[in-house]
Amino acid sequence: MQAAANGIHMLTISATIMGQVNTIHPTLIWDTDTVILVDTGYPGQIPLFRAEMEKAGVPFEKLNKIIITHQDIDHIGSLPSILKEPAQEIEVLAHEIEKPYIQGERRLIKITAEALVQLDKTLPPEMPVEQRKALLSALENPPKGQVDRTIAGPDTLPYSGGIIVIETPGHTPGHISLYHSQSKTLIAGDAMIVADGQLFRSPPPYTLDSKLAQESLRQLSIYDIETVICYHGGLYKGNAKQRIALLANEELN
Ligand SMILES: [Zn+2]
Repeated sequence: MQAAANGIHMLTISATIMGQVNTIHPTLIWDTDTVILVDTGYPGQIPLFRAEMEKAGVPFEKLNKIIITHQDIDHIGSLPSILKEPAQEIEVLAHEIEKPYIQGERRLIKITAEALVQLDKTLPPEMPVEQRKALLSALENPPKGQVDRTIAGPDTLPYSGGIIVIETPGHTPGHISLYHSQSKTLIAGDAMIVADGQLFRSPPPYTLDSKLAQESLRQLSIYDIETVICYHGGLYKGNAKQRIALLANEELN
């Protein structure tokens, strides 16, 4: 399949992690010169990215930019291994606040000592000790990748007809979302999730500052959003403007 000259496509990457099927949705945006991947999944997922890009008609070898919405492990996981691919030179873009975490200069905000102890308790008892140790050590020494360029809102990146960077802090301090003007698509990252076909705010245990995250949703009202891609839950095709306005203004409990 040959992809159109200009486009956007949601990827579906599924893997069994700690005994549960976990599906995430990175996004591919491209034009004739540039192929951008938004977020890089968990560690070890390159083969899945290759296969999904092939399906979209965009060869993996054409990938030349990566935008990371934020530092969480399911967004930076395969970054170092993709950067090691010999065939291509890839520029990595992220917000300045997230940069030191992505580069491994600071410990990932959510991977605290307590969080690791908590996680250890929730792992299935039948999980082999080696696997348990490997997982905890991967979290203590998370994947790192160099960020080549910092981006901030409201930059317009001159690719695929224009991609607007929107700062949506709250889930993490430097979280960004992206607006692809041509398709009127918001790539929300983890600023929102989709569950049972409905759009929701990112749930509290994963969101550092829920109040700030909600304030971030308020500024989305200036964009003409028809489609939302959430990293967790995928596509939302309902009345996005109306739903986001509701989420932005509902009472926090
Ligand atoms: Zn996240």
